[in-house]
Amino acid sequence: MTQLADFQTQQTYFSPAALLPSGWASNVLITVRNGLFTDVQTDQLPLQDSIILSGPTLPSLANLHSHAFQRVMAGAAEVSLNPNDSFWSWRDLMYKIVQKLTPDDAQIIAKQLYIDMLKAGYTQVGEFHYLHHNIGGQQYDQLSEMSNQLIAAANASGIGLTLLPVLYSHSGFGGQAPNAGQARFINSTDSYLSLHQECAEALQDHSLHKLGICFHSLRAVTKPQIDTVLANLSTSMPIHIHIAEQQKEVQDCLAWSGQRPIEWLHNEIGLTDRWCLVHATHLDKNELNAIASSQAVAGLCPTTEANLGDGIFPAVEFEKANGRWGVGSDSHVSLSIVEELRTLEYGQRLRDQQRNRLYRPEQTSVGDNLYQQALLGGNQACGVSFGLAVGNRADFMVLDDSHPLIGASQTQDVLNRWLFACNENLVRDVFVAGKHVINNFHHIEEENSRQAFIRVIKKVMYDA
Ligand code: ZN
Repeated sequence: MTQLADFQTQQTYFSPAALLPSGWASNVLITVRNGLFTDVQTDQLPLQDSIILSGPTLPSLANLHSHAFQRVMAGAAEVSLNPNDSFWSWRDLMYKIVQKLTPDDAQIIAKQLYIDMLKAGYTQVGEFHYLHHNIGGQQYDQLSEMSNQLIAAANASGIGLTLLPVLYSHSGFGGQAPNAGQARFINSTDSYLSLHQECAEALQDHSLHKLGICFHSLRAVTKPQIDTVLANLSTSMPIHIHIAEQQKEVQDCLAWSGQRPIEWLHNEIGLTDRWCLVHATHLDKNELNAIASSQAVAGLCPTTEANLGDGIFPAVEFEKANGRWGVGSDSHVSLSIVEELRTLEYGQRLRDQQRNRLYRPEQTSVGDNLYQQALLGGNQACGVSFGLAVGNRADFMVLDDSHPLIGASQTQDVLNRWLFACNENLVRDVFVAGKHVINNFHHIEEENSRQAFIRVIKKVMYDA
């Protein structure tokens, strides 16, 4: 590859093989101006000053579901404490970590996480943010104190942030009082709306960042709260919620309302394409069809759902219903597009005892279908439009073609080879709004960030 430039007013790039919305194209000349794609032409020659992208060039993905602070405990809950370890015993450990995190810790963790996301090929992150208050559970002078740490971390890393401040008021269906472990999360509807306003002001000068609306779960909010929040905030923002992740949640919702969680949300609030239903693991056929027909996004987190033993999302049936989905790394037990998409497909194969499950009639290549669907769903859930097309933000990445399975492949095999046969990280270069943030696998801040992150892990996890 020739020397790669940082953001310039206008720059052309030449890729021998690039994934466009219409599919793979050869000899693509890409023009970026002021952070946007202004021209994408196929079957061209490079211009004299074009930067040559020597590997397969792909749009980057939006990671639609993140709890940044949970990265500090990734892989630290894999010891059996009792025969019935479950999501709920994992949550007990998470609550203990929460009691220790300062604002500085939160920023350090998020900065390292976002650098690692960029290195994995994610250039936008949907940050489902519920850690609002101080260690004693009191409000900070600025309600957005902890949100501001995430904004600073995103700015330092260069990733785009879709900030999703979470309304979390209760510990169970029907407005049950919160428990002590939840003290840092809790807001009233009024304090949530004030927090949301502060976040909007903090984000207004950052062109990469977006703002959304977020309810922790149907356990954590009541119908009047949802109604009030939606009536008071912009009608164009994405809306995220955890839903139907665990069978216990479904049973509790049935006991409370006589309806299943997604059924309740569909009937009582109404699903639209603004919604991102995170997990949506346990759903019946009517609920599946309700999500698909509303064009809401199912926010799948395959590695976290596998780690927590949540269950297997019925993705084959959802694809047949033309449902929209994207992926998130959630608890960050893995930061790999490959591992998310591979786990999603393999879960379906293991359940069905069949191969090649997630394809569509118009896209029979599993890898290409997985990548294109994750791109579209991530875009919708995070309020961005990634893809190598005129008018979109110039976010893209280049795979390492020195790997023989990539370098020797014809384009129709590249995504399948990468997603099913490569375990090394092959994301070599990443651009965000035309800025070269990952250069030959490296981020300019990674050494400083890594050292600070190690100190926080030792302090928070091991009191060292
Ligand atoms: Zn989550």
